[in-house]
Amino acid sequence: MRPRSAASLGRLAALAAGERLFHAYILEGGRGTDKLRAAEAFAKAVHCTGEGPRPCGGCLSCRKAEHGNHEDILYLTRDGNSIGVKQVEDLQLRLRGKPFASARIIAIVDEAERMTPQSQNKLLKTIEEPCGNNIILLLTVNAALLLKTIQSRCILLRLTAAPDAASGAFAELAADFAEKLAGGGAYHELSRLVGTVTERDAADAFLDALTLRLRDALIAADGAARADILRLIDCAGEAGRGLGLGLNVKYAIKTMILKMLGG
Ligand SMILES: [Zn+2]
Repeated sequence: MRPRSAASLGRLAALAAGERLFHAYILEGGRGTDKLRAAEAFAKAVHCTGEGPRPCGGCLSCRKAEHGNHEDILYLTRDGNSIGVKQVEDLQLRLRGKPFASARIIAIVDEAERMTPQSQNKLLKTIEEPCGNNIILLLTVNAALLLKTIQSRCILLRLTAAPDAASGAFAELAADFAEKLAGGGAYHELSRLVGTVTERDAADAFLDALTLRLRDALIAADGAARADILRLIDCAGEAGRGLGLGLNVKYAIKTMILKMLGG
């Protein structure tokens, strides 16, 4: 994987203002981050034709981007539960064409982890052989949920969560939890540790912090340890999606712990 870089909205804007842009980025951030807003701000800045700092907010391109009707900003979002091959093919068709109003097309793939493996393999072709100056932005809660071949061909930008989400108390809690988990902690022990996490927002922040923690561990791990950490990240991701679907917080966390221990 290419070097990770902590990204903030500011950094993304700076990137957009620069001359050298890569053709594929993964924008990773927990549920506490607004990846879509970041991606849109990036696209807007890249397309901006105004003078001075970009985005200027006043040029035609900026105004179109603000209204969500810029011809050269494309969205790929899930249809039902996943992003299918046909959807990726439609996007590729557009990417092979010329941009309408600017120098390049920017494709934003929201919830990229929803792409089926087949969809990802299909998209991989475009990432390997980019068309024109086009840029693909893959938004995901967790880059590890994407195929390794995709991960290795994109620049990973990690959006940091709002300061109170993945820092402070939740980061500490996540660190304790991860440590107990690695040390073979029993269910009741882990469950008691996160007993105070009963609200949806707290659960989101805890899962974000835990995912960040596990991802950090992933970098140092190899072989079987790596596979197991990926599995744990998956469990946390699944719990997060459950919360997103309105699952009861206690139930989601309990299920997650049981799954983590069951592997
Ligand atoms: Zn502008």
